[in-house]
Amino acid sequence: MSFSSEIKHELCKVENRKLCCLKAECYGIWLFSKCFSLKNSAYVTEHGDVARRMSELAAAAASVQVEMSFAVSRRKKPAYRVELVDDASREQLLQIFGHTGREPSLRINRGNFEGDCCVQAFLRGAFLACGTATDPNKEYHLEFSVPYRNLAREFCTLLEETEAFPAAPAVAERKSSYVVYLKDSGQIEDLLTYLGASAASMELMQVKMYKEAKNNINRKTNFETANMDKTYSASARQTAAIAVISDTVGIGSLPEELQQLARLRLENPEMTLRELGEVLKISRSGVNHRLQRLLQLGEKIAGEKGIENIM
Ligand SMILES: [Zn+2]
Repeated sequence: MSFSSEIKHELCKVENRKLCCLKAECYGIWLFSKCFSLKNSAYVTEHGDVARRMSELAAAAASVQVEMSFAVSRRKKPAYRVELVDDASREQLLQIFGHTGREPSLRINRGNFEGDCCVQAFLRGAFLACGTATDPNKEYHLEFSVPYRNLAREFCTLLEETEAFPAAPAVAERKSSYVVYLKDSGQIEDLLTYLGASAASMELMQVKMYKEAKNNINRKTNFETANMDKTYSASARQTAAIAVISDTVGIGSLPEELQQLARLRLENPEMTLRELGEVLKISRSGVNHRLQRLLQLGEKIAGEKGIENIM
């Protein structure tokens, strides 16, 4: 099931306890369905529960009978067609919500809201009709695809004014519709919770936490790799110096404390200063000091013997 389907499935289970909210959700789902007009047009959805919800809401809030049939969606998937087949029922649905169907442009009639409870239900209806959300593993994106420009603008304002969560939606034009969208994961979470999809909101939150944890690990690994590279390049210079000493005067000619470290370093180029120190039972700075002496000695010999400077 896609993330959008999960959300819609969850939203369709929300119970409208008050008649005002039931009507508001009905208004939202039909206003954004592209068939809120006098013309006979159908709404096609792959979500069976959304089609049922539309039909039930129309019956309960406007006493209008809806016809449902099987169809094929634009993505060639099995779908449901929802329509108001006769003129009288289309007119009735419009009238219940204070519309005539003859307005120059479709607007949100706020007279249908008795309070914040209704705005919440209206937004839920809108999401069921025209909302989608991208899988949070891929991207944080939630959008409402609104068929008309003025409707999209007013819808955007309504979202911005909602006091329950600080949403800052953006609007973009796309082919035949206007897209009102959110990209901020926190805002999407808040909106989903507000609409009544708290399980989906929780899922998004968990994906986000997982992603953040993974990023932290990656950052740490990068940091460790960089440190390792540093160890290796320093180690390469040291082993080169020790090799010069070994090939010329011989490691045996070195003071006792340097001999041990020189052999250890040659055999273990990957060891850090700390690790070398642990083996020799001396401090890290002690190791560093002795390695500097080996480096200087190696460089001096290389200079004297005219050995190409590989350090
Ligand atoms: Zn209400």
